[in-house]
Amino acid sequence: MLHIGCHLSVSKGFTALVREALSLNADTFQFFSRNPRGGAAKDMDSADVAAANDLMAQHAFAPVLMHAPYTLNPASQDPKIRSFAQTVMADDLTRLARINNAMYNFHPGSHVGQGVGAGISNICALLNHILTPDSADHVLLETMSGKGSEIGATFGELAEIMAQTTFGDRLGVCLDTCHVYAAGYDIVSCLDKVLADFDKTIGLKHLKAVHLNDSMTPLASHKDRHAKIGAGTIGLAALERLINHPALKGVPFYLETPNDLTGYKNEINMLRSAFKG
Ligand code: FE
Ligand code: FE
Ligand code: ZN
Repeated sequence: MLHIGCHLSVSKGFTALVREALSLNADTFQFFSRNPRGGAAKDMDSADVAAANDLMAQHAFAPVLMHAPYTLNPASQDPKIRSFAQTVMADDLTRLARINNAMYNFHPGSHVGQGVGAGISNICALLNHILTPDSADHVLLETMSGKGSEIGATFGELAEIMAQTTFGDRLGVCLDTCHVYAAGYDIVSCLDKVLADFDKTIGLKHLKAVHLNDSMTPLASHKDRHAKIGAGTIGLAALERLINHPALKGVPFYLETPNDLTGYKNEINMLRSAFKG
């Protein structure tokens, strides 16, 4: 069974989102916790969340993925920026707990000149304020492309964040195929080696989600430009090998490709027919 969905925007409530995913032949989806630029979160209606939980259970959904606003910077050296990230993330985790089968994905952040080590210390201090053993089980660090001074473009940096966080051994990782390729991990020619490296450095048991994207820019370009499946430098054959790789069995895939709903539906159906498991 291939678990696959795409990024959807929350407009008419949570149950409508589940129905929209079902109409795309998806059995999961990703959504922003609030305006991606970090505005106030909408209240979650209890009846709506309960109905969505029922519908997801009825259709055996894989965990849905709540994505933190991408403008947060937990690694910042500015205490105001860090405290804003901490407030938003703590509030997001409270709302996440109301969804029965959900995970929370965030970007580790950028060190903006202070150095990777100091940036990682800031991220870990923030996580130590907001994580409990329960919530840590549902929180994922995303692999980044390394644009600017982004932290998390190497598996080693993510392992370091986990090592320095109190409940770090419970954290998960979301591998973004566009980002890792742009970061220099050759998932086209050396997928086995990249996954073995992930296993050795982080541990495959921490790999909880994959953002399935093609890339507009080449290997090790350190850019973050998503392309449609098969329309980029990674290519359809490599992405088909990836969804069928035994090391990724059962891991849900989330498309973040530049598509409208029809485009997403076509990609989901194409990947479902390419799945051999
Ligand atoms: Fe992301
Ligand atoms: Fe991503
Ligand atoms: Zn990206």
